[in-house]
Amino acid sequence: MDPLRWVRPHMLSLKPYSSARDEFSGEAMVFLDANENPFNAPYNRYPDPLSRTLKNKLASLKGVSPDRIFLGNGSDEPIDLIIRLFCEPGKHNIVTFEPTYGMYQVAADIHNINVKKVKLTADFQIDSRELLKLTDEDSRVVFLCSPNNPTGNLLHPADILDIVTGFNGIVVLDEAYIDFAPAHSWLKRLDEFPNLIILQTLSKAWGMAGIRLGMAFCQPEIVWLLNKIKYPYNLNILTQQKALELLDDEDKKEEWVTSLLNERTKLAEALEKIPFVRKVFQSDANFLLVSMENGRAVYNYLAEKGIVVRDRSGVTLCEESLRITVGTPEENRILLEAMKKFIIKIRNK
Ligand code: PMP
Repeated sequence: MDPLRWVRPHMLSLKPYSSARDEFSGEAMVFLDANENPFNAPYNRYPDPLSRTLKNKLASLKGVSPDRIFLGNGSDEPIDLIIRLFCEPGKHNIVTFEPTYGMYQVAADIHNINVKKVKLTADFQIDSRELLKLTDEDSRVVFLCSPNNPTGNLLHPADILDIVTGFNGIVVLDEAYIDFAPAHSWLKRLDEFPNLIILQTLSKAWGMAGIRLGMAFCQPEIVWLLNKIKYPYNLNILTQQKALELLDDEDKKEEWVTSLLNERTKLAEALEKIPFVRKVFQSDANFLLVSMENGRAVYNYLAEKGIVVRDRSGVTLCEESLRITVGTPEENRILLEAMKKFIIKIRNK
């Protein structure tokens, strides 16, 4: 199965911008090729357009060869570029489920690509047969998210497999929260499925949301095409350097994950005891979806107290629910205390 058959034809022949740093490879002493200011090193220089050193580091960390890695300004960048690469505006469509991460829809809307959605089941799983039934000859990309945002749960591997093998097009599996989940990434199986693109990010478990670094793992031909259509210097020097530095400390990431998972258990138990909380959904991520009476009012009350959670009360299957990120023990304590005060406030009404 050749993944290039789904690429918009003009993308294959497109001649990308060739930057000064693309054209020269070797050890240079004098750089007079890119109209940079020679002072204020190292920030005066353009970054490596392909972030090669960083890719090598991620390759050994993830056990994937560097030519299977595309790096973007957050994983939001590859979401956008994948739609651009495979979908003809006004003609093709993407398929996903609801509720899920909102950027698949937004990126599709920007490109005038129709989005077809199947509703998750009551236990937040996909009915893979229903999803496949929804696809048609103009469906180019299926977006799956596991663990899913905002529901927090992993999708069943059998359903993912059904879709990756049953769909005649590209399947994107967004694993932004995989480091928190009791399951392996699908990265190990990347070579089995030429149509699979796996997304991961340094924004969650690695604690680097501020530097914007997202990864797409896929066949080298797709990496090559994504590199052709990205902005030439999409990852700045500061991001590349900081990521290289912080990726050295994998133990720290593991420590954070362990502590956040402990906190998640404690927070879930404490939330379940709050009388207006109806249900704390099981989570494989660093957040909890919590269904409650008057979700919107609770959200407003917390916001007044300077505590920001995510109001999902208007989202399909998440009626009256808030999505709460697991914070530090202190942050979680402040949240719980505020929620307990909300009970007193309603009682005194
Ligand atoms: N995928 C999912 C499922 C997310 O929840 C998020 C961020 N909320 C992203 C991708 C984007 O992450 P980033 O752009 O920071 O890598």
